[in-house]
Amino acid sequence: MNRKRFEENMKIDREYILSLLENAKNTTKEDIDKILEKASKKKGLSHCEIASLLEIKDESQIKKLFEIAGKIKRDVYGNRIVLFAPLYISDYCVNNCRYCGYKCKNKFKRRKLTMEEIKREVEILEKMGHKRLALEAGEDPVNCPIEYVLDAIKAMYETYEENGVIRRINVNIAATTVENYKKLKEAQIGTYILFQETYDEIAYKKMHPNCIKGNYQYHTTAFDRAMEGGIDDVGGGVLFGLADPKFDCLGLMLHNEHLEKKFGVGFHTISVPRLRPAQGVSLETMPYLVDDDMFKKIVAILRLAVPYTGMILSTRESAKMRKELLEYGISQVSAGSCTGVGGYEQRLKGIDVDQFEKADNRTPREVIEDLIDHDYIPSYCTACYRVGRTGEKFMKIAKSEKIHYMCKPNALTTLMEYAVDYGDEKFLEKVENFVIKQANEIDKEPVRRLIMNNIVKLKNGKRDLYI
Ligand code: SAM
Repeated sequence: MNRKRFEENMKIDREYILSLLENAKNTTKEDIDKILEKASKKKGLSHCEIASLLEIKDESQIKKLFEIAGKIKRDVYGNRIVLFAPLYISDYCVNNCRYCGYKCKNKFKRRKLTMEEIKREVEILEKMGHKRLALEAGEDPVNCPIEYVLDAIKAMYETYEENGVIRRINVNIAATTVENYKKLKEAQIGTYILFQETYDEIAYKKMHPNCIKGNYQYHTTAFDRAMEGGIDDVGGGVLFGLADPKFDCLGLMLHNEHLEKKFGVGFHTISVPRLRPAQGVSLETMPYLVDDDMFKKIVAILRLAVPYTGMILSTRESAKMRKELLEYGISQVSAGSCTGVGGYEQRLKGIDVDQFEKADNRTPREVIEDLIDHDYIPSYCTACYRVGRTGEKFMKIAKSEKIHYMCKPNALTTLMEYAVDYGDEKFLEKVENFVIKQANEIDKEPVRRLIMNNIVKLKNGKRDLYI
């Protein structure tokens, strides 16, 4: 099959993806063996190969797929897992997304946080140890204009709790203009995140009836505008459950490739949310729900296809599923999340205001202990973006082995900082032993020394140490 040329302007070629999927139905076991062999060399995969891999059914080949994905993940990310939490600032929404509890059809008292309320939420998040947040809001140009979002970002960065401040704010707001993306860039956001929801234009239109978000072309070209506006870290994703997941995996790959060709760098991260029950949303009416087995395959295949793109998993997934997917590809997870406006304050009062049902309600401390117990390094590192290692520059480093000598010490140092600030004596001792053990596995003496020195500095009151 001829590989299509990509246009300067973003366009997902529906017919092309459908033909890839159709051809892939003839995939043989021998084809899959060859593709897995190629994937193990971390060279990425062609569209045809991804389509074929999505047909994988043989148990021993699935096992092999997971093994290769796991190996790639360890080679690229080591055992580091970045932690973050979402912060919902407004649930006003003019859209009618069939899958979302915020759809304007749903009648409930909408609210947006005042700057004081935002500060209170951030203080609670800081008390939990968070350093990296994802700002979330519904789309409403009148009640939640860009100026409000910018004020919210400023308030979030300025809020200081006794152990420090939020160091990176990623933003997940609706598709907007180049001008607004420039403003977000000036406000020093980290990644601009936007889920495509689905790349299948027909399904997309069905899922977004009579609303601004229903403009498929505008939504699909948002990252082009974001990058034109100077944001060089963008995070894509689809909401699995809305359309054929195989179609959406290929859509993600085409989108990523388009950005790589036009701007020199593709997605900084890919999120893999799966549909959850929400107010006025019944999963029984959704024809494409993705079961656990398919979901695991998707995560592993994405890891093979784009080895250097971070992958994010939220508390939509259970602790068990999160643990399993960390092995095959996930590099970033949320912890202790509330997915509703003012949710952190409300939770302290025993009230639940979540946008959709969560499946993992553990505290960050519980998540951290679990990660350490399974030999992962929970990381609060935000260094790259703060020293300008973003976009293409970041990808170059990510593709070199050098990344481990920066990321591992930074991850261990932020973990140690967390333990010093938030742990009791027992926890601090556990973390310190773990950090020393992990440091001793590094094959460069100066890097090991740097970590040992950081432990001492942190205990003596120094904070926010990074390379
Ligand atoms: N309003 C922004 C937009 O239009 O892109 C994004 C904010 S919304 C709070 C974040 C994401 O939540 C959406 O992009 C959607 O993928 C996801 N979401 C909405 N309803 C969901 C549900 N029922 N289950 C799981 N995820 C859902």
